[in-house]
Amino acid sequence: MPITQTREIIAAARLQNVRYAIRDLACVADEVARQGHKILPLNIGDPINFDFETPPHLIEAVYKAMREGKNGYAPSPGVKEALDAIRAEAERKKITSVQDVFVTTGVSETVDLCLTALLNPGDDLLTPSPDYPLYSAVLARLDLKPNTYDLNEEDGWQPDLFDITRKITPRTRGIVLINPNNPTGSVCTRSMLEKIAELARRHNLVIFADEIYDKLILDDGETISIAAVAPDVPAVTFGGLSKNYLAPGWRIGWGVVSGDAAAVKQYSEGIQKLLRARLCANHPEQYAIRAALEGPQDHLIEVRRKLRGRRDLTVRWANSTPRLRCVSPRGAFYAFPRIDIPEGDEVFVRELIVQKHVMVVHGSGFGQKPGTKHFRIVFLPDEETLSRAYAAIAELLSERYH
Ligand code: PLP
Repeated sequence: MPITQTREIIAAARLQNVRYAIRDLACVADEVARQGHKILPLNIGDPINFDFETPPHLIEAVYKAMREGKNGYAPSPGVKEALDAIRAEAERKKITSVQDVFVTTGVSETVDLCLTALLNPGDDLLTPSPDYPLYSAVLARLDLKPNTYDLNEEDGWQPDLFDITRKITPRTRGIVLINPNNPTGSVCTRSMLEKIAELARRHNLVIFADEIYDKLILDDGETISIAAVAPDVPAVTFGGLSKNYLAPGWRIGWGVVSGDAAAVKQYSEGIQKLLRARLCANHPEQYAIRAALEGPQDHLIEVRRKLRGRRDLTVRWANSTPRLRCVSPRGAFYAFPRIDIPEGDEVFVRELIVQKHVMVVHGSGFGQKPGTKHFRIVFLPDEETLSRAYAAIAELLSERYH
């Protein structure tokens, strides 16, 4: 037998820039769980892990589609019924210059396709810091680095316009705006949206408006779409079933391309080309889109009521605990308290899992201003569970830092 030498297969160097702290911590948690401890998971934004259920009329719509044989490939852009419902929803969001709509395998795929269809080597894209790590992961796959702009904690985590302006380069092609925001829970004001739109207009940037949490506004008011504020500016608005409609496992998202028709034509065709290359999004699940957008919305009242109570509990606790302070989230289900400790936030978060069996995500996993430390809480669990988790966090803080 010839002696063969084992040669290690080396993963591509570009993966060094892919980080997904939210799931990376799972290895630490798995070890703690193996020792027989139950982990309190305040780390993953999946409502189905907690006391939230996919509305039954959505399940019925998918079941019916499956029974009726909608189990083959779907048209690449999406099934007509879903596309019509997404257009009608864009109209309700007051987006008046819609040029195209398409369905994807979650907003994750919308982001992937839209960035891939736009960016060339050497281009850059403005992304928020702290950010949702998917954006930097997709950029890494394109061999690009994010050009991050700050969200300003002192201004309720609104985008820092001065920072955006000074970060724009001749190679900047677009700007990502996550509104309502993950991980901070902030919601942009109309005047902020107008100012960002004006910068995009002036510098010929495509706006990527990630509005996956647009129906989860916890106080009065509603999400204002930047594409509605600036119908002339090229934009892709993202939406989906994962959060508003409590069906993250179905992997259904969509994109709405808007702006001047001539300006977005070629780019939009580029997206369609990529949509064809990956065949289609999940087929039967697309039949839940019309059911979701046009059927009963009752679940939202209950979801917002629960989230408001859990948000209030979170903020009250954080702002009365030494070493913590927290801007009150206005949307989604995340809080991003600042923590004043002598060591890194990742060390704290790992200790929290090992010693107290509570899992949050360190701020450094999302990006944050140098010198500041944070962690992200998902406040989806019920108030009793949250209270237990918060008591454990406070305990570790006082044990570790006196
Ligand atoms: N965008 C943001 C801001 C998110 O928080 C998430 C998921 O947490 C996504 C996109 C991905 O959503 P989807 O489940 O539709 O892929």
